[in-house]
Amino acid sequence: MKVEKTEVVIIGAGPSGSVAAGLLRKQGRQVLILEREQFPRFSIGESLLPQSMEYIEEAGMLQDVVEAGFQYKNGAAFVRGTRYTEFDFREKFTQGWGTTYQVQRAHFDHVLALAAERKGATLRFRHTVESVDVSGATPELTVRSPEGETYRVQARFLLDASGFGRVLPRLLSLETPSNFPVRGALFTHVEDRVAPGTFDRTKIRITTHPKHVHVWYWTIPFSNGRCSLGVVAKREYLEQFQGTETERLKAIVAEDPELTKLLKDAVWDTPARAITGYAANVKSLWGNGFALLGNAGEFLDPVFSSGVTIAVKSASLAARCIARSFAGETVDWERDYAVPLKSGVDTFRTFVESWYEGGFQDVIFHPNSSPEIRKMISSILAGYAWDKENPFVADSKRRLGVLEKLCAP
Ligand code: FAD
Repeated sequence: MKVEKTEVVIIGAGPSGSVAAGLLRKQGRQVLILEREQFPRFSIGESLLPQSMEYIEEAGMLQDVVEAGFQYKNGAAFVRGTRYTEFDFREKFTQGWGTTYQVQRAHFDHVLALAAERKGATLRFRHTVESVDVSGATPELTVRSPEGETYRVQARFLLDASGFGRVLPRLLSLETPSNFPVRGALFTHVEDRVAPGTFDRTKIRITTHPKHVHVWYWTIPFSNGRCSLGVVAKREYLEQFQGTETERLKAIVAEDPELTKLLKDAVWDTPARAITGYAANVKSLWGNGFALLGNAGEFLDPVFSSGVTIAVKSASLAARCIARSFAGETVDWERDYAVPLKSGVDTFRTFVESWYEGGFQDVIFHPNSSPEIRKMISSILAGYAWDKENPFVADSKRRLGVLEKLCAP
């Protein structure tokens, strides 16, 4: 079997893989990206957070993203019954990007992957990683080409950026259950036909279900008059609705009068899709000659659109560790990669748990919140979950607990 050698091999050309490739190319590393699909391909995860822009910029891919013409985004709006509240991410506690984009992921992921290729990474679509051996001095992969041939790749370092494919967690038995209940989502794209002025297209809109605190809807407007529409709920709730995915999604949307009004003229021209049980975790984010990026590691929940931000943050942290390792330093991957990455993920976790228990929803919709506290919350919603200067990051559980009590109805 043919054996190929490279410095860093990356499984998957989603945001974590492509941004990692861009960063490694900046260091002058030889990079091979193996991607199972042919891009452009559909992916869920369309609303970015401003914090992600820092890492896209660091990878030298900002111009590619800006020039792609995606919908500009500056905040998040929340709707509960007839109550509406919004956060402008430019008004936030933490310094840094206050705006970002709402992206069709098929196009966005393709833009990033091509940017990585232009920077000198070798990018192969329709090459599937089938097995892996990390027991030797350097990792080795077995890959299937589009023609059905298999070949081996040896690399000095392996990054698993395979997202929900979870290649290394599956092959190396690293999976560990998420402590979140099994939730699912139904989603589609519609031509929304919302009259100008009735919908702020520069914000994701999160609508909470009128009766069930654990059910919420997203509307993510795109720049072309279309909109991503989805609902998230516990599996048992979703299972009550029968029919095709589109019929089920329509029936759940019909449960909320405000959302129904907003989308009354929408053209449902794309079959809806479903995904269940996406929350995932691993025993370790690194091992002998490898690290897990983005969703190949842990995935929490979509409610605060943190997935791509965590993915590109992990790429940035891992690229720094690889630079040090290739320079001859001994890298403590737990201390310098896993711990810092997880600290931000844990901040999001506190807010996600509180959201589903209802406490954070009461905070968001409270009519008299202090402007200073709103700025701290706005920072977290903008993705700045690693900024320990923010008291709601440094001491998130206690601070949020106190705030929940103050805002309880
Ligand atoms: P991915 O984007 O999943 O990329 C992984 C790539 O690896 C894929 O292209 C895949 O084809 C490839 N691959 C897999 N297996 C193999 C293999 N064996 N060989 C080669 N290649 C392989 N995030 C947000 O930021 N904003 C949102 O609004 C948002 N909404 C979401 C809504 C829902 C319902 C869900 C479930 C998630 C949402 N997310 C959101 C999360 C987001 O989808 C992910 O966090 C993000 O895509 C992770 O990026 P990644 O680079 O880690 O992996």
